[in-house]
Amino acid sequence: MIYSILDKGDDVSRALAARFREQADRLGLKSDDETPELVVSIGGDGTMLQAFHRFRDQLDTVSFVGVHTGHLGFYADWQKDELEELVRLIAEAKPRIVQYPLVQAEIEQPDGKTVHLALNEFTLKSVDGTLVAGVYINGELFEMFRGDGVVISTPTGSTAYNKSVGGAILHPSLEAMQIAEIASINNRVYRTLGSSIVLPKHHCCEIRTEENEPLIFSIDHLVMQVDHVRTIRFRVAEQKISFARFRPFPFWNRVRESFIN
Ligand code: NAP
Ligand code: MN
Repeated sequence: MIYSILDKGDDVSRALAARFREQADRLGLKSDDETPELVVSIGGDGTMLQAFHRFRDQLDTVSFVGVHTGHLGFYADWQKDELEELVRLIAEAKPRIVQYPLVQAEIEQPDGKTVHLALNEFTLKSVDGTLVAGVYINGELFEMFRGDGVVISTPTGSTAYNKSVGGAILHPSLEAMQIAEIASINNRVYRTLGSSIVLPKHHCCEIRTEENEPLIFSIDHLVMQVDHVRTIRFRVAEQKISFARFRPFPFWNRVRESFIN
């Protein structure tokens, strides 16, 4: 397999990347940073998110594998003392490929539309204070939201920000996305559902705000301000991410090891 390494950039992950390359050379593995078949992320989940966004235009041909360097590494299957074993398996064995759902956001502004993909989640907040937004499901007004913001997550992102705001954990075999509230205001005057909701493939969640309200929009680790937004439409993406599994690591074991053990 032709590989490319993306490391976190600190001393530990750079040293691991050097060790990886040395052994890969010995075993005759080729590397190519433009069109690899396997992307090896060395670091934490933040590194995997970066790797995903670097290669998001090649999702049909690229698969991902992660190596921990002492971070949570929910997406990483391999510990640093297992690096040699991983390189050997890459050289010898054909991995099982598992494909997980992504979420797509289409932002409509006066000058056109842009489309984005997230591996973990999108979040929407207001620049100054309370986010006031109409939440539409499949074209119909569901609720008026007032509060800090909303998190729209993928199943594998459901253990990240979504979990911190009380969302449920979804198994990634479910082609779905979850909408969770961040500190919604609920009183005699304002009311939201209060619990998070899970939408299946082909359903659309649209969020409309006042066009002159500047928003903070995040795509995974990337946070930006967006102005003059008319509406943002979220749905389960057509594309999926492929992870290369060189040994089994079931999702619920991953959850237990990350949060309970
Ligand atoms: P970070 O501040 O290092 O991430 C926060 C924590 O979330 C880290 O422990 C990270 O693991 C972990 N994490 C990331 N993706 C995860 C996943 N799918 N399942 C379980 N844990 C996960 O920032 P970052 O590394 O650039 O990651 C960006 C992500 O941070 C965002 O996508 C968002 O999900 C999360 N975030 C969470 C909150 C919150 O919980 N209040 C607020 C902002 C952002 P590593 O240590 O391995 O990186
Ligand atoms: Mn991180």
